[in-house]
Amino acid sequence: MTKHTPMIEQYLEIKSHHQDEILFFRLGDFYEMFFSDAELASRVLEIVLTARDGGGNQKVPMCGVPYHAASNYIAKLIAAGYKIAICEQVEDPSEAKGIVKREVTRIITPGTVYDEALLNEETNNYLAAIIQNAGVIGLAYMDVSTGEFKFMEFPAQNGQDEFQNEIEKISPKECLLPSWNQAAGLWANLDLKISPVISGQHLPEMDAAAALTCIESVFGTIIDEYINNKSSAGLIAAAMIVTFLNETQKTSISHLNHPVMILPSSFLEIDYSSRRNLELVSNLRENKRSGTLIEVLDKCNTSMGKRLLKSWLERPLKNPKLIQERLNAVAELFESINLRYEIENYLHDIYDLSRLAGRLGSGMASPRDLIAVKKSLAILPSLNQALQKVQSDLLLTLKNLDTMLDLHEILEAAIAEDAPLSIKEGSIVKSGYNMGIDELRDISVNGSKWLIEFETKERQRTGIKSLKIGYNRVFGYYIEISRAAHSEVPASYHRKQTLANTERYINEELKEFESRILSARERLNTLEYDEYLKIRATAEEYIPRLQEVAQRIAQLDVLNSFAKAAIENDYIKPLINDDGTLEIIGGRHPVVEKNLSQWSFIPNDVYLDKKNFFALITGPNMGGKSTFMRQIALITIMAQVGSFVPAKQARIGIVDRIFTRVGAADDLASGQSTFMVEMMEVANILKYASGNSLLILDEIGRGTSTFDGLSIARAVCEHIIKNIRAKTLFATHYHELTDMNKFKSGIFNLSLSVKETEEGIVFLRKVMPGRADKSYGIQVAKLAGLPKSVIRRAETVLDSLEQVPMAANAEISIQKDLFENINLRIVEELVSLDLDNLTPKNCGEILRKWQDSLKNDD
Ligand code: ATP
Repeated sequence: MTKHTPMIEQYLEIKSHHQDEILFFRLGDFYEMFFSDAELASRVLEIVLTARDGGGNQKVPMCGVPYHAASNYIAKLIAAGYKIAICEQVEDPSEAKGIVKREVTRIITPGTVYDEALLNEETNNYLAAIIQNAGVIGLAYMDVSTGEFKFMEFPAQNGQDEFQNEIEKISPKECLLPSWNQAAGLWANLDLKISPVISGQHLPEMDAAAALTCIESVFGTIIDEYINNKSSAGLIAAAMIVTFLNETQKTSISHLNHPVMILPSSFLEIDYSSRRNLELVSNLRENKRSGTLIEVLDKCNTSMGKRLLKSWLERPLKNPKLIQERLNAVAELFESINLRYEIENYLHDIYDLSRLAGRLGSGMASPRDLIAVKKSLAILPSLNQALQKVQSDLLLTLKNLDTMLDLHEILEAAIAEDAPLSIKEGSIVKSGYNMGIDELRDISVNGSKWLIEFETKERQRTGIKSLKIGYNRVFGYYIEISRAAHSEVPASYHRKQTLANTERYINEELKEFESRILSARERLNTLEYDEYLKIRATAEEYIPRLQEVAQRIAQLDVLNSFAKAAIENDYIKPLINDDGTLEIIGGRHPVVEKNLSQWSFIPNDVYLDKKNFFALITGPNMGGKSTFMRQIALITIMAQVGSFVPAKQARIGIVDRIFTRVGAADDLASGQSTFMVEMMEVANILKYASGNSLLILDEIGRGTSTFDGLSIARAVCEHIIKNIRAKTLFATHYHELTDMNKFKSGIFNLSLSVKETEEGIVFLRKVMPGRADKSYGIQVAKLAGLPKSVIRRAETVLDSLEQVPMAANAEISIQKDLFENINLRIVEELVSLDLDNLTPKNCGEILRKWQDSLKNDD
């Protein structure tokens, strides 16, 4: 076997414990990577791949990054889904006997990052764990950068869709799937739209009792109702997260919040495709924020607020009391311009306290982080002052923030305003805080004074005008004299270095000074470092209080943001009810209206209640049907989030779920055609919608042949009307469906109006009662610029088709089919009757049942 150099031997030993990670091996001022790690990293990071002698004439592939710039490179590798083990020198190289001792001090994975460079301020960065136990799926998730820690449970038998929806909502960057648990198999069968990094296969097996011990070892005794549930799948998943963090972080994780159980059923549920279709937090085209609801509503001044706003939009409320509380708080801010401006101004200067607390808890807070904490705390007394007069219940709970004057005082006294990022190079501790530091600093400062005096003295003594004192890291202090004055250099000067035009010397006096000052600086840096660690440890004790303040500030920020968005966009406070009525007068689409010039958006009304709950919407292409339906869904969501809404008046009956089936999207990657995706979405809606849901169905059945599509559309409408009775908006170009109101109660027609002029059609975008009988498809195609010949031919074909009243035929046949279906059922029952064993009374009852059935199915 090849004999490696001792250093490569050491590398290979450490690497053998970190096969899954790229090993960043500290070598002086660089992190080096070797072998396949080097080949991979050089490709991903686009850095040069070199080679190093690995012993036995063997060249080992190598690449490296400077340690002070490592975070950018780490960010790139993490973003590409890799995990990194940081291996540091853990003894002073100058004191090492033989090879310097090295250890892995931290493992960074996509779900365990703290550094700003690796995080997005607007979104949480979740690490999730999934466990299936005793018929229950447990999902735990944590954002290590803020300490947020939650878990949920779903029945394994029929809760898989809900589980999938939640995991897509959380969108974890990394997911722990221990190989001993059947959750790994469950995961493999999911059809997920996200692809987190999978880790933690090696995590140890745990039952409920072991999980509880694990959690309690970190958070103390937990007395909560969830402990007593039978499966504890959520708790075991939470314990997996704690175990994984203990293993990877290797430092304290004191900022982690106590795990809290979430009940998905307490929130308005919006499934993955509906969330995407409605473009709540990311747009359909590029998965970005532009053109989304969050972009319109986000007037937040802090990153904490931005993240909370996103999670509110993803989990609108269902509880009318909680919704009302938010709305009342927004109303108070809406009405008081002064309060709003004051809050906004103060929040603007508050840093991301959640993530600062996270960095404190993980032992990674830099001096600048502590300055940011101090500056934020300094704002709180004024913010409290501004909040003194608030009256609404929710704002009352957000006032009197804990200003932590004691922590502010310590940081103010201890940390220098211009402290650096690094904690090893001094200049951190403020003068007057520590006498020892002040004394050593005095020596360094006075050293500079001494140098100036020494320079003047030597110039006068030697008569050499070009004489200068300088310093560099390699040669230390020197006396620099130009070549021309070479002959005048005193004999007591010893040459140190020769440059092109100058010579550098040292004398005894300067040498003595050098050792004095360098040792003072070294001692100063060490003392400052030790003192800093003490200050940071003190600050760590304030983490729970900082987190509490951060959470309240985030809420205040979101409420203020809603008020500001409402003022800027002319929104009103909706009335909330739970009688199932949805009435919007002068409603507008919050995003589309922003993209049109002022006042050009046409507002529209809608009224749905328990009796008239199904609106069938027809009208021309480009008429505004989709916009109208989406705006109703968005207004409902906004109201249930606690925001004001774009309307003149709104009465919003709380809904439990919103489903949308809009537009066509292929899912070729998972082998689904456009029509298949559409039908799967419809199947999902029909399976889960209830009488309290809101359904937005746009052009169901368009992806197949006309008759197939029309039949499916009609059957879906009938099913919703008869069996679900959800508030429904159903847009279609199948005008044949507009007669359904004659046969069914609950359904009514709405249409988008259009004006025909000499020049063509004008879209009025006004929603009116009644049905449309044309779609103006050819006119719209003309507007879109189809060749004239194609348009002419289309008109001819249309004329000839209209000679044969296809629609009318279809209508008749649908009615006929319906009748025949019912007859068939009755005929089948009749055939199977055992007449010999029926009494005349039985026969009468059966006859009555058939008659009722025929009457009800009109
Ligand atoms: P199609 O049947 O062809 O899918 P549609 O009836 O669903 O069309 P939309 O997509 O809703 O039409 O609207 C088309 C465009 O009309 C929108 O992109 C928007 O710019 C504009 N629009 C829609 N509604 C309004 C409105 N109320 N006021 C002003 N412009 C509107």
